[in-house]
Amino acid sequence: MGDLAASLAQIVGPEHVLAEPAELDRYSADALTPYRAYYADAAFDRLADVVVRPADTAQVSQVVAFAQRNSIPVIPYGGGTGVMGGILPVQGGIILDLGRLNRVLRVDTVSQTAEVEAGLILQDLYDALEPHGLMPGHDPYSVPIASVAGTISTNGVGYRAAAFGPMGDQVVALEVVLPDGRVIETRPVPKQSSGPNLNHLFIGSEGVFGVITRATLRVFRQPEAAEYATMEFADFDAGFRAVSEMAALGIRPTLLDLTEDSEGVLLHLLFEGYREGVDAALRRTMSVCDEAGGWNVGPEPTLSYWKHRHDSALNYRQTALGRPREERWQRQWGRTFDYLHMSLPADRVLEYRRRADRMLEARQIGVVEYCLWSRPEFFSMLVVPDGDRRVVGRDGYDPEVRANLAAGVDEVLTLAQDMGGIMEYCHGVGIKLHHLLGRELGVSRDAMLDIKRALDPAGIMNPGKLTL
Ligand SMILES: Cc1cc2nc3c(=O)[nH]c(=O)nc-3n(C[C@H](O)[C@H](O)[C@H](O)COP(=O)(O)OP(=O)(O)OC[C@H]3O[C@@H](n4cnc5c(N)ncnc54)[C@H](O)[C@@H]3O)c2cc1C
Repeated sequence: MGDLAASLAQIVGPEHVLAEPAELDRYSADALTPYRAYYADAAFDRLADVVVRPADTAQVSQVVAFAQRNSIPVIPYGGGTGVMGGILPVQGGIILDLGRLNRVLRVDTVSQTAEVEAGLILQDLYDALEPHGLMPGHDPYSVPIASVAGTISTNGVGYRAAAFGPMGDQVVALEVVLPDGRVIETRPVPKQSSGPNLNHLFIGSEGVFGVITRATLRVFRQPEAAEYATMEFADFDAGFRAVSEMAALGIRPTLLDLTEDSEGVLLHLLFEGYREGVDAALRRTMSVCDEAGGWNVGPEPTLSYWKHRHDSALNYRQTALGRPREERWQRQWGRTFDYLHMSLPADRVLEYRRRADRMLEARQIGVVEYCLWSRPEFFSMLVVPDGDRRVVGRDGYDPEVRANLAAGVDEVLTLAQDMGGIMEYCHGVGIKLHHLLGRELGVSRDAMLDIKRALDPAGIMNPGKLTL
């Protein structure tokens, strides 16, 4: 055991320090494959120096304080399912696996909150709340594999976000280990008028300001009524009009997904809650969709969609999670696509789509799916290079096709920024979008850097992320 591992073993115990090459390899990448990290190839060259698996907040604090004294990078690691490379140890250092902090500490049916540890997997939270007649509000595809703190740190979006918002909206309080080892706790009340709400320093911050060790989350009563509906539209614009009108009226279904693909344009809806509210929302939605030119195709397509919503993550768990990096990447080679999730002011979305279409068409990049997920401002595109069916070399892709896809993706992401929006609403920045963040943040980036320098003068917390 080297010096670094030996020092850490004194804090967490030798069995919770991993330094074997195979362990360092599998911990040093998430679900982002090198193919899609167009401008960050070099980020995959570096492995972590060591992985530690602390048992509690006190051990996290000691590890972080040790790292600060010795200027060693610390990268918080939840489920390792991020799709942007947020956990890549681009400067080496210590991967801090929060997986052993996985307890549900308290379920409060009156406050409708759950206090949980950072590394708890979302599915385990669902299972723990079920007997209390409660459920979490965050329901991403990745429920079976993603952790509480990972989803807070990326401010992820899920299937119930139309009603409950992204994961960050469900954070009531946090316990966080700061980069010098001190522990802060915010209070479990819904709002304060006593200074800024520090939860927001850590929501969506990809671990650059500290390590979340506990969270008190808003949780929700299991619905007494649920109604599924599927509306079809002649085109995306008509569906968009219906979604906008629903938003303006304040109708908040649990699930809202307007998707255009080769099958047509479908609006998947699920209404959950108390009986009278569900009936009223469904009835009014039907007339809104009817006025926008939509027609009802019955609940079945949405029922099936809902039933299969976690399949991709179950498949990922079975075929990729915890496997060596090369093996994980092998699954993706030859599958050249990108999935983009922009957010724009609602009044710019349709214009954005037309302008992005023209840009991609000029590069012979096809869009196989357009989507609004949970609200009119959240717009996604699944893009594929036309005619890319060739398999070239071991990596199974043509470098020219990849370069063209990379350039096209950057064009449409920067277009979203230039039209007053942002390049990503769901998965974070990681290493994949790092090169575009500075132009999006402008002077805000200087303010972020000032905060970073004040809290983390040695720059140990997940260095090289969020441009900090
Ligand atoms: C099949 C599949 C489906 C997916 N579906 C969705 C989806 O529907 N919606 C969605 O939003 N995302 C989705 N994702 C992406 C991924 O699941 C999310 O980004 C998720 O939020 C990451 O959680 P994690 O626990 O795996 O975080 P990790 O990948 O471990 O970490 C993500 C980031 O958070 C930081 N972090 C982790 N733990 C802590 C902590 N304790 N303190 C501070 N920082 C921390 C890490 O350093 C990193 O920067 C999907 C991924 C896969 C593979």
